[in-house]
Amino acid sequence: MTILSQVLEHNQSFVTNREYEQFKTDKFPHKSLAVLACMDARLVELLPKAMGLKNGDAKLIKNAGALVTHPWGSVMRSLLVAVYELRAEEICVVAHHDCGMRAIDPQHILDSACARGVSEETLTTLRGAGIDLEKWLKGFDNVEDSVRHTVEVIRSHPLMPHDVPVHGMVIHPTTGALSVIVDGYAGRTSQAA
Ligand SMILES: [Zn+2]
Repeated sequence: MTILSQVLEHNQSFVTNREYEQFKTDKFPHKSLAVLACMDARLVELLPKAMGLKNGDAKLIKNAGALVTHPWGSVMRSLLVAVYELRAEEICVVAHHDCGMRAIDPQHILDSACARGVSEETLTTLRGAGIDLEKWLKGFDNVEDSVRHTVEVIRSHPLMPHDVPVHGMVIHPTTGALSVIVDGYAGRTSQAA
């Protein structure tokens, strides 16, 4: 059975048995929170449970490493939409220990791409168009520094209101324990002072 057919088979019984009823909510985050987290599979259920979040409590944005790689990319846009259109009042950046984006080797990814059929010519063309593939694929060396940087990118974004606290945390991928790296309230106070 393919992965797709497994998903669809489950989905049919999920809908037929009205299992969705326990998840009914609306589009506004009840805890007025937007969370940017890593896509790590260990965090699928662990992260919301460890943060006390139920369906409908937060806007959850995920990518590899919980990063904002570009101030005008889709992650930053999602956070701005969450704040201006969907009543998010605070933002949490949640990275995690043992993240695949730490010390990722861009060259290894490019070698794998070539092994999977992407031609050297394509890489040369992309480089010729000014795309720095190594820089684009690079993750981070230190998770705490990465969280601080991401929080700063969000907080200092020209379209982000100054009164939105942006917190930075690191979650343990086994225990769910959260460490606060940036207290968004403290940042807001010092900014005001
Ligand atoms: Zn990760």
